[in-house]
Amino acid sequence: MNDIVIETQNLSKQYGNLLAVNDLNLEIKKGEVFGFLGPNGSGKTTAINMMVGLLKPTNGKVIIGGNNAPDDVKGGIGVMPQEIVIWDNLTCMENLMVIGDMYDVPKDVIRERVHKLLTDLQLIDKKDALSHTLSGGMKRRLNLAMALIHEPDILVLDEPSPGLDPQSRRVLWNYIKTLSDGKKTIILTTHDMEEADRLSDRVAIIDHGKLLILDTPENLKNKIGKGDIVEIKLRDEGMNKKIVQEIASIDEIEESKEVGGKIYIRALNAVKNLSTIFNLITSSGGDIVDVKIRKNTLEDVFITLTGKELRE
Ligand code: ADP
Ligand code: MG
Repeated sequence: MNDIVIETQNLSKQYGNLLAVNDLNLEIKKGEVFGFLGPNGSGKTTAINMMVGLLKPTNGKVIIGGNNAPDDVKGGIGVMPQEIVIWDNLTCMENLMVIGDMYDVPKDVIRERVHKLLTDLQLIDKKDALSHTLSGGMKRRLNLAMALIHEPDILVLDEPSPGLDPQSRRVLWNYIKTLSDGKKTIILTTHDMEEADRLSDRVAIIDHGKLLILDTPENLKNKIGKGDIVEIKLRDEGMNKKIVQEIASIDEIEESKEVGGKIYIRALNAVKNLSTIFNLITSSGGDIVDVKIRKNTLEDVFITLTGKELRE
């Protein structure tokens, strides 16, 4: 039981008629990267804000490190919020010094710690730059440094990478990996299946505030959305429904449905079945304008569970 750092029991949040988080029961293990994957509005931010004690649950509770009060261990959690929160008219260095002071980081270690964080996050050249002059990606990295200044055991990252340029994204992902190798517990929310897949030891997929499934990315892809994916776009989308049904009757097809205006087919050996599929479409009078074949991803797990794409 000691290796559970955060536990939620029947955790729920209601806003008026909306159940934003619906009966969430989770155990976050020490040292893991725990990913929350779900579309916008699925309740990720609400859930983690309750988990770190920033928001009061309507029902249920959060148990942190065996304690009942998140306040007791607030110093042990660092949060990088979804919206960037920095003091625009302070330099990078000053932002970190101020936040370090708020967390009572001892004076004799603060400078060294700030220097290391800025170096690790590739911001050291910008240490004296006013933070409003930074690029979006740099601001986000600064926000991450600020979440780490008190060396928390648990780090919460709420959608760390939307809007990041590829370089910032790579720096961020690599850095998150080194933190996790350094035994920090990391909770990450994202609607980006690649991010969830690359970084998480376990992924909780949520939709409409409800936990749909929880497992390692590998297990999810091997069990739920297994196979290759073929996506076919017809000139006339009106034919999708009929053709989807006909394809479903082919023996080796795991799944055939209409997703995002396209015909979406999942099969264990898609390539082998391609000619059968094409023949069937052509003989039904369908006119193919685009075909994609790819390996399955966590997005396909989500599609299999909900029938819709993560990003709509
Ligand atoms: P996510 O982080 O997955 O995008 P959120 O947790 O932000 O989702 O929101 C979940 C749902 O709760 C959404 O429908 C959102 O509009 C609603 N919601 C979030 N915060 C509030 C609030 N303070 N008042 C009313 N509704 C809210
Ligand atoms: Mg959110």
